[in-house]
Amino acid sequence: MARKKSGKEEPEYLSIRFDMPRRYRWSTGRYIGRTYHEAKQNKKLVANRCVQCKEVLWPPLQVCGRCKVEAGEDWVELAQTGTVMQYTYLVYPLWDPHYGEKFANPYPNAMILLDDGVYIRHFLEETDQKKLKVGMRVQAVWREDHERGEGTADIKYFRTIRE
Ligand SMILES: [Zn+2]
Repeated sequence: MARKKSGKEEPEYLSIRFDMPRRYRWSTGRYIGRTYHEAKQNKKLVANRCVQCKEVLWPPLQVCGRCKVEAGEDWVELAQTGTVMQYTYLVYPLWDPHYGEKFANPYPNAMILLDDGVYIRHFLEETDQKKLKVGMRVQAVWREDHERGEGTADIKYFRTIRE
């Protein structure tokens, strides 16, 4: 026990050094690898469909969770437009783990229902809280410097569109 200036006894806390390496590689596998490749090379979002129930699997899966069969290679391109179903308005400064940049602050993060029925969580370009609405229409804006191929992180944000 250590005595503080106030005279109260407090336990001494030990610290443990933990150096976390930042650079590492791992295999993304056949299915996620295809998604990352399409995002990097073609600015497309792709998913596979179950051969039995035809459910679009996003993110792509090897096995359909519903049918318990190998999903296969029936690839479909996903829409890049959708509707904001829910959003969170973040005002705490955070770092983007994919790119090592600080996120703009504040920044909204939304659950978006793509036009083909797939949900994706992503950032919104619009930062004016008064203009953010559930039901607003948005479209993906890809990074110009997206040479790393990190899937949906290659999308910079979703921009408000008027139709
Ligand atoms: Zn299925």
